Amino acid sequence: MSKNLTKRSEDYSKWYNELVVKADLAENSAVRGCMVIKPYGYAIWEKMQAELDRKFKETGHQNAYFPLFVPKSLFEAEEKNAEGFAKECAVVTHYRLKTDPEDASKLIVDPNAKLEEELIVRPTSEAIIWNTYKGWIQSYRDLPLLINQWANVVRWEMRTRLFLRTAEFLWQEGHTAHSTRNEAIAETEQMNNVYADFAENFMAIPVIKGRKTESERFAGAEDTYCIEALMQDGKALQAGTSHFLGQNFAKAFDVKFTSKEGKQDYVWATSWGVSTRLMGALIMTHSDDNGLVLPPNLAPIQVVIVPIYKGEDQLHQISEVANELVVDLRARGISVKFDNRDTHRPGAKFAQYELQGVPLRVAIGPKDLEKGTVELARRDTLSKQFVAKDQVVETIDSLLKEIQDSLHKKATDFRDDHITEVNTFEEFKEVLENKGGFISAHWDGTEETEQKIKELTKATIRCIPFDAKEEKGNCVYTGNPSEIRVLFAKAY
Ligand code: AMP
Repeated sequence: MSKNLTKRSEDYSKWYNELVVKADLAENSAVRGCMVIKPYGYAIWEKMQAELDRKFKETGHQNAYFPLFVPKSLFEAEEKNAEGFAKECAVVTHYRLKTDPEDASKLIVDPNAKLEEELIVRPTSEAIIWNTYKGWIQSYRDLPLLINQWANVVRWEMRTRLFLRTAEFLWQEGHTAHSTRNEAIAETEQMNNVYADFAENFMAIPVIKGRKTESERFAGAEDTYCIEALMQDGKALQAGTSHFLGQNFAKAFDVKFTSKEGKQDYVWATSWGVSTRLMGALIMTHSDDNGLVLPPNLAPIQVVIVPIYKGEDQLHQISEVANELVVDLRARGISVKFDNRDTHRPGAKFAQYELQGVPLRVAIGPKDLEKGTVELARRDTLSKQFVAKDQVVETIDSLLKEIQDSLHKKATDFRDDHITEVNTFEEFKEVLENKGGFISAHWDGTEETEQKIKELTKATIRCIPFDAKEEKGNCVYTGNPSEIRVLFAKAY
C-alpha cells in the first residue's frame, strides 16, 4: 500500500494529498472546497479537541453555543471585521424551495420565500456573540466573561486544500470580555501560550510565538498574536491565532459595564482560535514517504498487535498472549488494538498501520511463543527489536514517551536548521529559493515594503517573534533603519 505514495522529494504537495486520502483521514466531498473527515482522521481531531478543551477549562473558560447564522445588520456592525470577511461570505437569501413549474423533477428557489434580512453563514462569531454579550454584561461583577465555542465556520476560500484551507472548517473560538485593557491583553497572551504549549508538548510541533504585522492582523483586532510552525518542505503554517480586540466590538454592539467606582465604560475583548488546519500541521511536520507518523499523544491506536500464524491452533495460542498484553496495556491507559482479522495477511496489516502512523507494532509468531518474546517495531524510526514477554509492557510504556520526545526533537532540529539570518536582498532571495524555511531579516516597519517583498518573492512576514532580540540594522529591502529582525517565509 505505502509503495504507492509519491515521495516528498518528488512532489511534496502530491505526497500530502495522497497521504490524507490513503491514510483514511479525509476526502473531498460533493461540495467544492468542503471535506469529509473520515473516522480515523476524526479520531485524531477528537484527541486534539479533548486536550485543548481540558486546557481551556483549566484556565477558567466554559463552553457555549451560538447560532450558525448572523443577520447581515449585525455582521455589518463592526466595520473592519465585516469588511475583512465580506469577500468570503456565504449568504442565505431564501428559506424555501418549490417544484419547478416547468420540470416537476426539479426544485427551484421560491421567490416568495425571500428573507427580509439576509443571513451570513458565520465566518467567525464575534458579531453574534457580542450582540448576545450586550444582554449578559452590566457590571464589573459580570466580568471577566470567559467563553469558548466548538463549531464549524464557513469562509468561501478560492484555493482549498484538505485540512489546510477548506471552505467549511471545524474550530474552536474563544470570546472573552474584560474590565480592563491589561487584563484582556494578558488573556490574549495566555491563550497564545496555551496554543504553543499544546502544539509543542502534545502535538510535538515546535512553534514560534509572535505578533502579526498590521496587514496580517485579524480584521477588527488591535493586535494579533500567533504561533507559526514550519513544514518539512520549508513553508510556514499559521497554526493558531489569539487576538486582542480592544473595545472595537464593545463599541459596535454597545456593551458597557459599570465599574466598582460606578463609572460606565466599554468592555475589553479577546478572541482566539485553532482549526482543523492543525491536522495539516501534524501531517506535514512528522510524516514520511511511508505514510503518516503520529506522536503517541495523538494516535487513536498507540499499539497494534498482529498475529502471525498458520491455522486455528496457532492463532489460539497467540491470541492468549495477545489478549493478556491488551489487558495489561489498557490498564496503563495505552490504547491498543489486537488485529486478528483473518481476511487480511500480516503483510497487508503491517502496510496499513505503517501508512496510518500507529506508533508501535507488536508482531507475535510461533517462534515468539517458543522463545517467550514478541517483535516490537517503531513507526518513527522503522527499527525493530525482540523483547521478552514479561518486559514488553514496560518497554512499550517507555518507548511511547521516547517516540513523543524524539519526534519533537527531530522537528525542532529541522526548524532550527531552517531559520536563516540574512542581511541583503540577494541573500534573502537565494535562501528562499534554495533552502526555504524562516528568514530572519530586518524590515523597515512599513506596509509598503512588506507588500513589495511579497510581490517579488511570495514571502510574507509570518510574525515579529516575541523573543526577537533588539538589534539595530537596516531593512533588507530598502536599507532604512530597523530595530528588530522579523521572520519571513513562504506560507500555506
Ligand atoms: P482567524 O480567525 O483568521 O484568526 O483564524 C483562526 C484559526 O483558523 C487560525 O489558526 C487559522 O490558521 C485557521 N484558519 C483560517 N482560515 C482557515 C481555513 N480556510 N481552513 C482551515 N483553517 C483556517
